[in-house]
Amino acid sequence: MREVHHYVSGATSRGRTTRFADVYNPNTGEVSGRVNLAGRDDVIAAIEDAARAFPAWADTPPPRRAHVMFRFRELIRANLDELAHMLASEHGKVIADAKGELQRGLDLVEFACGIPHLLKGEYSENVAAALDVYSMRQPLGVVAGITPFNFPAMVPMWMFVIAIACGNTFVLKPSEKDPSVPQRLAELMLEAGLPKGVFNVVNGDKEAVDAILTHPLVQAVSFVGSTDIARYVYSVGSAHGKRVQAMGGAKNHMIIMPDADLDQVADALIGAGYGSAGERCMAISVAVPVGAETADALRERLTPRVQALRVGLSTSSDADFGPMISRAHLEKVKGYVERGIQEGAELVVDGRKLQIPSYEDGFFMGGCLFDRVTAKMRIYQEEIFGPVLSIVRVDNFDAALKLPSEHAYGNGVSIFTRDGDTAREFTRRVNVGMVGVNVPIPVPVAFHSFGGWKNSAFGDTNQHGAEGVRFFTKVKTVTARWPTGIRKGADFFMPTLK
Ligand code: NAD
Repeated sequence: MREVHHYVSGATSRGRTTRFADVYNPNTGEVSGRVNLAGRDDVIAAIEDAARAFPAWADTPPPRRAHVMFRFRELIRANLDELAHMLASEHGKVIADAKGELQRGLDLVEFACGIPHLLKGEYSENVAAALDVYSMRQPLGVVAGITPFNFPAMVPMWMFVIAIACGNTFVLKPSEKDPSVPQRLAELMLEAGLPKGVFNVVNGDKEAVDAILTHPLVQAVSFVGSTDIARYVYSVGSAHGKRVQAMGGAKNHMIIMPDADLDQVADALIGAGYGSAGERCMAISVAVPVGAETADALRERLTPRVQALRVGLSTSSDADFGPMISRAHLEKVKGYVERGIQEGAELVVDGRKLQIPSYEDGFFMGGCLFDRVTAKMRIYQEEIFGPVLSIVRVDNFDAALKLPSEHAYGNGVSIFTRDGDTAREFTRRVNVGMVGVNVPIPVPVAFHSFGGWKNSAFGDTNQHGAEGVRFFTKVKTVTARWPTGIRKGADFFMPTLK
């Protein structure tokens, strides 16, 4: 049986603990391998190794660091099929979706290839007599990433690609549910020319996370996962003096105005609501049609589409989406559907009984559609993270704007309309971090930055783009005067611009 350990100093490193977690093939429900859960000593060894690698890597000129990224890009492209299959077999997303995730990760690598430009500082000449001021961005040291199961390639790449390009050394603690792809990415980075110890991977659970959050050599922690853990990581990491950004869960709404093209809306909702079995932090889980007519027409279009969703093996090229990550998560999502019925929502399509012949033990579930969900229901308030879409009917634009604005989560939101004024008003006023206009999953491109508001993110810096570079560097400002410009005599007063 496949056993995943850690990756430290450019080689596989056996854990010192005897604690393991099972890794599943979600198609069959069988255990496909196991992953070692690092103890504190394993984590400390990885951090100390990264600290030893830091001075030389920080001194490596940014264009040389970019060369590693150029080669890494080519290696991912050459190994795309292998990586996508590995990802699909542990996560359960279908191959085409896995390739899409890897492509979004590649976008990050391409962004990081421009790191010499991104690290350029500012220069002000002659701000006072013979005085020049300039600033530069320098790496922090050892930084860490803690990532969720649902994007085992893209989310780690949001972090380690930017951090390493900026000159930091990196310790990644990926999800223990699908650990193989992050490990493979670390191997490919080494093959691309990254020196040993610059990128270490430790697998594990809370014990490993706590060791990272409390270790004095770790300068910054980037986290993505569920809200309760994000809040915990933010508070413990900050209390230990670290720079922390912690992205949490979501409940993303799509507002459908009466003038929207409902065929386009239905396409968008089917893809954004059910793609990857709804296990995306930017999935749309709430549809908000404005006006009864819009709601009835939308429901009429959605119902047959949800009934016809093709659920299948993650390796099948015919499937729209595959199984969920685990039996526990499958049961949790089904529990939410039961709760919705009890709360009085109308279950229009029930996918709970779906079974794939010969794969009865796989973690599969069909699409579910609820109508007449209200803001008071728990199925509206909480993140379900499964193939369940809720329709919340409202009478007018103001009521539609209020829903996502007042929701506890504030990751993404989208509006479908043909009216520019309505779209502009919505994008300006809505209290949510990422907004789509006729775009159902507004995940910003690599050179912009990603981040939600409210309970969807703790800390004040987003992932990737210029914000990512800011998070993984610190500014040094130099004020310089050369001997010919220095006046004679001591100056006892606060220096001013003279
Ligand atoms: P999770 O919070 O269970 O796990 C995330 C990471 O935290 C993992 O590495 C895990 O090992 C670790 N962890 C788990 N329990 C812990 C504990 N008690 N103490 C310390 N560390 C712990 O999340 P998940 O189920 O892997 O991922 C799904 C969640 O991630 C969803 O809520 C989803 O919305 C969210 N997510 C958010 C974004 C975003 O950018 N906002 C992106 C992707 C996923």
